Amino acid sequence: MLKIRSMLLWLFVLSFLLAVSTGCVWKNHVAENDKKLANPPVPVNNPSSDLVKKADRGQKGVSFQVVTNPEIIPVLVNKRNKLPKSYQPLDLIFPDIPFTFKEKLEKRKMRTKAASAIEELFAAAKQQNVTLLGVSAYRSHATQENLFKYYVNLDGYEAARTYSAIPGTSEHETGLAIDVTGGNGKCAAEACFEGTPEASWLQDHAAEYGFIIRYPKGKDTITGYKYEPWHLRYVGKAIAQDIMSRSITLEEYLDVTPVNK
Ligand SMILES: [Zn+2]
Repeated sequence: MLKIRSMLLWLFVLSFLLAVSTGCVWKNHVAENDKKLANPPVPVNNPSSDLVKKADRGQKGVSFQVVTNPEIIPVLVNKRNKLPKSYQPLDLIFPDIPFTFKEKLEKRKMRTKAASAIEELFAAAKQQNVTLLGVSAYRSHATQENLFKYYVNLDGYEAARTYSAIPGTSEHETGLAIDVTGGNGKCAAEACFEGTPEASWLQDHAAEYGFIIRYPKGKDTITGYKYEPWHLRYVGKAIAQDIMSRSITLEEYLDVTPVNK
């Protein structure tokens, strides 16, 4: 009888200890997650696990990773890394810069930080006698979807995806990218923008305002795009200066798999 009682007592003590210890572990786990929520991780060296988790298979066997933290400034969006379908930037505003058109259209919009940075960049260029015009900035998921559908109807899926971004994979959907051109409005988002004084000013100075030339010359196997001297992407000053001074791409900076591998 005494034996049974002491065994029961031991069992009680053991289960109490077990409950306390798992409680502590669980508590720490919650605290850790809270910290993560308060300070979302900013990718530095190998953020691919933070940035992308779910695999997604598009039409015709094209596979994508769905970006899990689309709101962070250095977010990676390319032909392999797709924004979630429901993603819409919450802080879009109209930057106070001239565009090639007068209307107040959606494509003038940018996220707040990128908008004030592009205002500074345009003002600095003007001071150095370089006049710039915006061509196209934000594009909503719905707009990109309609555009892509239009091209698919016209040329078929395979052809369309060689010249138009599959919905979710265009950087313009982040609100952090903008196509620009020179003050005369010629060569807007066209190859003839290469070699213009405006293109070389951007190459030399964009990083001072937090922008990179997102698709540099000779890096198309890494970025998935040919040289686009007009496509600026806001990543913040520190990252932009690092990327531009080392002549690398966002993919190389984030140490992720090249797009065409
Ligand atoms: Zn662009």
